[in-house]
Amino acid sequence: MLIDTHCHLDAAEFDADREAVLDAARAGGVGGFLVPAVGASNFDAVAALSAAHPDCRHAFGIHPMYVRQACEADLEHLRERLADGSAVAVGEIGLDGFMQDGSLPLQLRYFEAQLRLARAFELPVVLHIRRAQDEILKLLRRIRPPGGIAHAFNGSLQQAEAFIKLGFRLGFGGAMTYTGSRRIRQLAAELPLSAIVLETDAPDIPPAWAAGRRNDPVNLGRFAGELATLRGMPMAEVVEATCANAVAAIPGLAGLTGFRPPIGREAR
Ligand code: ZN
Repeated sequence: MLIDTHCHLDAAEFDADREAVLDAARAGGVGGFLVPAVGASNFDAVAALSAAHPDCRHAFGIHPMYVRQACEADLEHLRERLADGSAVAVGEIGLDGFMQDGSLPLQLRYFEAQLRLARAFELPVVLHIRRAQDEILKLLRRIRPPGGIAHAFNGSLQQAEAFIKLGFRLGFGGAMTYTGSRRIRQLAAELPLSAIVLETDAPDIPPAWAAGRRNDPVNLGRFAGELATLRGMPMAEVVEATCANAVAAIPGLAGLTGFRPPIGREAR
């Protein structure tokens, strides 16, 4: 069974056909979806998705690209929502060094506070990392949240090894399908399989065959195929291992593995 460990199913891009998108992914073998939040404004939306769908789970967190829309009270609100026990992780949180809006000090403040919440609630974290690998590693070493996933990993081999040492798995998806993404493809091929989880980041990071279009979670099966090709191993092995890795990274996903995706529902 495949698990999409990073899928923004609540995004407006899916408003017109969300159920069809889910059914297509299920028919393609995706048996679980982790839907991270981006801020207090979508906590209800991600929680509603997992309440309505037995194969969805959600995370609560404030995304680094949304800190300017956040306020201090959102951290208290986040604490309350984490206390309700419904979320399987704190996410999507992190640092985005591409943002040129002077928000980095604010990003740091929210990130650090959320790492402390993750530690307090013993929840893994889903990390967004752009041009901030070493900064994030430093904070992880200091605050020590209980592991999680470095989503859309694009760091160096040395940085990958540092995340793994801290108990993290690395997320691979659409970027791996571009032949020009040499470093990402090399990491996907050579890192220990136990360190890798699959994700789409739908509707973002479309794969090579859908460049410029919406990325859908049904693409996850082809990502597994791409990973199997890169590693020269059977697809079934990649599917089984990445599913087990997802559950190891986010223990709250364990219940999903008993869920059998309905096959052929699209034929109705
Ligand atoms: Zn995301």
